[in-house]
Amino acid sequence: AAGRAAASWLGPGATRDGHGVDILANVQDGPGARRAAETPVQGVGLFRTELCFLDRDVEPTVDQQAAIYAEVLAAMGDRKVVVRTLDAGSDKPVSFATIKDEPNPALGVRGMRLGLRDEGLMDRQLDAIALAAKEASGPVWVMAPMVATEDEAQWFAEKVRVRDLVPGVMIEIPSAALLADRILRHVDFVSIGTNDLSQYAFAADRMAPSLARLTDPWQPALLALIQRVADAGRAAGKPVGVCGEAAADPQLGCVLVGLGVSSLSAAATAAPLVGATLAGVTLDACRAAAQAALDAASPDEARRAAAEQLT
Ligand code: PEP
Ligand code: MG
Repeated sequence: AAGRAAASWLGPGATRDGHGVDILANVQDGPGARRAAETPVQGVGLFRTELCFLDRDVEPTVDQQAAIYAEVLAAMGDRKVVVRTLDAGSDKPVSFATIKDEPNPALGVRGMRLGLRDEGLMDRQLDAIALAAKEASGPVWVMAPMVATEDEAQWFAEKVRVRDLVPGVMIEIPSAALLADRILRHVDFVSIGTNDLSQYAFAADRMAPSLARLTDPWQPALLALIQRVADAGRAAGKPVGVCGEAAADPQLGCVLVGLGVSSLSAAATAAPLVGATLAGVTLDACRAAAQAALDAASPDEARRAAAEQLT
């Protein structure tokens, strides 16, 4: 039944009563983007550029990078693509960028911190994205991963704006979630990475199956952080997306919409079912489900309480 519902979803994303929510795909290369383009998703909400370079010992030139990014942009035609700058390090080591032998790489120089340490690395990637964007027919938004502070967001936004691109940052560190209102003064959008946000909020390694109870995306404290960011987005009149695994769970997707997020980005194989499920519920039901999940004492209780509101 779920398969049929997903197959019959034609987009664009909206609740049954017409509240629009962009349903987007997470991709990592041209072939993935072409597969995503065959579905009704409204664009790419997360292009994980670091995954293009996992096997590279030498940094690709600006032209080489631009060709790779252009393939993804071309696949999506006039649909929006959110390109994420290199999130190298920790669970995604890229040998030309990451620092070897850090004692605790998840808490080390990873993501945008590598660009702060080696500004040329960031500049060359942004030049390549700008070059690829010149040939694109759809909007190109650019976001940085692992932003922790307001001044980091400001540093990144200035670099993106001088290249005539639309700047945003990921909210995946609790410090950034707490000050999302101030970060939103500098950027045009934010996207919540629930995988790392739970890892850092719960002090629980996202790769450790034995801690899956804590990194469960239905954890009420994670939902409270998301609500805080969504509220800041609404106050600023700027989009707040979710691009972590949480957005791939159809029922949780409805809860996230109830918390106030404006887009959901998931694997292209999961996104249609998220869109189909959202199309079957009202915004009021999403809000009731969100409140019920926030009030729960555990992820399982949150799941049950939300499901009651959504059926
Ligand atoms: C996240 O952290 O939720 C996210 C989307 O980024 P990644 O999984 O690539 O770290
Ligand atoms: Mg992340």
